[in-house]
Amino acid sequence: MPTFVHTDKCDGCKGGEVTACMYICPHDLMKLDTERMKAFNQEPDQCWECMCCVKACPRQAIEVRAYADFVPMGGAAIPLRTDTHIMWTIKFRDGEIKRFKFPVRTTPVGSIDPYKDKPAAGDINSPLLFTEANKQLPTI
Ligand code: SF4
Ligand code: SF4
Repeated sequence: MPTFVHTDKCDGCKGGEVTACMYICPHDLMKLDTERMKAFNQEPDQCWECMCCVKACPRQAIEVRAYADFVPMGGAAIPLRTDTHIMWTIKFRDGEIKRFKFPVRTTPVGSIDPYKDKPAAGDINSPLLFTEANKQLPTI
């Protein structure tokens, strides 16, 4: 089942042009109602419940009503993400709450250079990916 927004928590990402949920959704589903400054899922049928928007929302305003085998009716799985960790709050139907905290990275934020080892323009015809710069081509 698709995402829904707790409108009491959503602040429209404080009026940013592209909100966190709009930016992150791989299916372009989240939209901002600019009059109310509240986001909503504009095409719930198309949501594949990847939870990207749920994890990206800085206000914990988005929830996925997940399938019953994962989160039975009355339960909830709510993530809280920081730069280094994610903490899942699992609410059970009987009211019990459990929290699990995991690290999400092993390097400091901003320390990775995605273009490291990028080949010079002259290598553009190489069949290798630029991350394979040091790989030997097989001989046939
Ligand atoms: S990311 Fe969260 S706070 Fe920002 S617009 Fe979307 S639902 Fe609202
Ligand atoms: S759960 Fe995934 S597909 Fe659904 S609205 Fe959020 S980001 Fe988009």
